[in-house]
Amino acid sequence: MDALPLHPLMPLPDAEARLAALADRVAWELQTLAYPARDWVRPRGDGVRDVVVVGGGQCGLALSFALRRARVTNTEVLEAGAPAGIWLRFARMHTLRTPKHVTGPELGMPSLSVRAWFEARYGEAAWAALTKIPRDVWQAYLDWLQGMLALPVEAGWRVDAVAPEADDLLAVTAERDDGARARWLARHVVLATGVDGAGAWQVPAMVAAALPAGRYAHTAEAIDFARLAGKRVAVLGAGASAFDNAAMALEHGAARVDLLARRPQLPAVNPYRWMEFAGFLNHFADLPDALKWRFMRTIFAMNQPPPQETFSRCALHAGFHLHLGAPIRALRMEGDAIVVETPHRAVPADFLIVGTGLVVEPALRPELAAAAPHLARWRDRFAPPAGEEDAALGAFPYLTGDFAFTERVAGSAPWLARLRSSSFAAMASTASSGGISTLRPTVDRIARGITRDLFLDQAEADHAALVAYEERELVDLTLASEGTRPW
Ligand SMILES: Cc1cc2nc3c(=O)[nH]c(=O)nc-3n(C[C@H](O)[C@H](O)[C@H](O)COP(=O)(O)OP(=O)(O)OC[C@H]3O[C@@H](n4cnc5c(N)ncnc54)[C@H](O)[C@@H]3O)c2cc1C
Repeated sequence: MDALPLHPLMPLPDAEARLAALADRVAWELQTLAYPARDWVRPRGDGVRDVVVVGGGQCGLALSFALRRARVTNTEVLEAGAPAGIWLRFARMHTLRTPKHVTGPELGMPSLSVRAWFEARYGEAAWAALTKIPRDVWQAYLDWLQGMLALPVEAGWRVDAVAPEADDLLAVTAERDDGARARWLARHVVLATGVDGAGAWQVPAMVAAALPAGRYAHTAEAIDFARLAGKRVAVLGAGASAFDNAAMALEHGAARVDLLARRPQLPAVNPYRWMEFAGFLNHFADLPDALKWRFMRTIFAMNQPPPQETFSRCALHAGFHLHLGAPIRALRMEGDAIVVETPHRAVPADFLIVGTGLVVEPALRPELAAAAPHLARWRDRFAPPAGEEDAALGAFPYLTGDFAFTERVAGSAPWLARLRSSSFAAMASTASSGGISTLRPTVDRIARGITRDLFLDQAEADHAALVAYEERELVDLTLASEGTRPW
């Protein structure tokens, strides 16, 4: 379907040997950094997992690694798709949008970094020549990382419910592709289900109402670009994905692509780049609500430009037409043609690609159906000053600094404190966009929140263990001056 050209990189002739040497270095670093190595979490028993992570993409994998480093090993990662993640599914860029130096899933271990792996496989010169990592190479790196760390992922399980079993226990229910169903009990659940994990990719109602299925698709859906050869394609939206998909259509021989966006100007400045400093990434979540609100309104108002290479990928085609200040006034079928009406013109098309992003609405996710009626939104917790009202921002879930949902009504659903989300819904509360640049602070905060809660749950028992602790360290009190004592 998505015939995206693969990167021209060739592994070095001795790549296998270099990767084997790197694997030795990884093992050495893991062993060297294993302290404190003692398993400490008291089992709840009855097969209860300490943590169930839903989603085996980069975030689910990095979180599983972070928990393991904290010696939380009674965990499960459930993944619906094959392959996991977005990179080989509907990401349609040639390279990542983020620069190559942005690290994340290696959690600070140099031998596990994308650079170390890339240089072992393709060489230092290839890395030096690289500006951004090819999308499929990034996925190959994630596969290598998962293998290196032997991170287990139960594939083929789509979680469709997370519900309270007790105040300190959640029941996770999932269905496998073959219809089999299973249930896990967990003390903590993390929904690492992607940027749309607490909402949905959004097709405007007017599109679904006006066009027959098969004549439009969202950018997060599978699209048969080969079938667009010689066709007129209209694209709604001006985000990076809208441009990626416009470029795909052009590269597959579309006769013409019209990209339509409401805003009169494309943003040129990327606030997500500005955010990339330790203070903001690690401590936005510690800000008072009023400042969080102000930062988020500013970031959303600034919006994000498509990366230069993505814009240029379209701009080099004579068949590419950009319409700014072009909100959709009407949409209809005229015979077999789609007609997109804007204040300035009527744009005919044979296929419509919807690049309107996602909506944050937990009630749209089956796995959040039990939580949605009880979880607090920003509008439930924060009253913005006059002039700073923002209904869309107010609809974002109000999460804790370690990404846990909170109750709209105190005492109504205490189990929400054990349910966390790393989706874009966390952005308002933690500035976590779900991207690579915020991955490490996201995973660190979630893992620390969970280990804190696990320790607090067992601290009484741990104290009793301390009282009973009698491993003698000082065993030989022989003094030269007094000879041997008969202990
Ligand atoms: C088109 C696109 C391009 C992007 N490009 C970049 C970029 O270049 N740089 C950057 O930093 N960020 C980028 N991002 C943002 C972000 O990095 C990616 O979205 C990334 O995939 C997030 O990783 P993740 O593990 O959180 O989610 P995902 O990679 O989406 O993984 C989530 C996994 O959860 C699984 N899942 C979902 N629901 C369930 C369920 N109910 N049960 C079981 N499994 C489930 C999915 O199958 C999926 O495998 C991009 C996002 C998009 C959409």
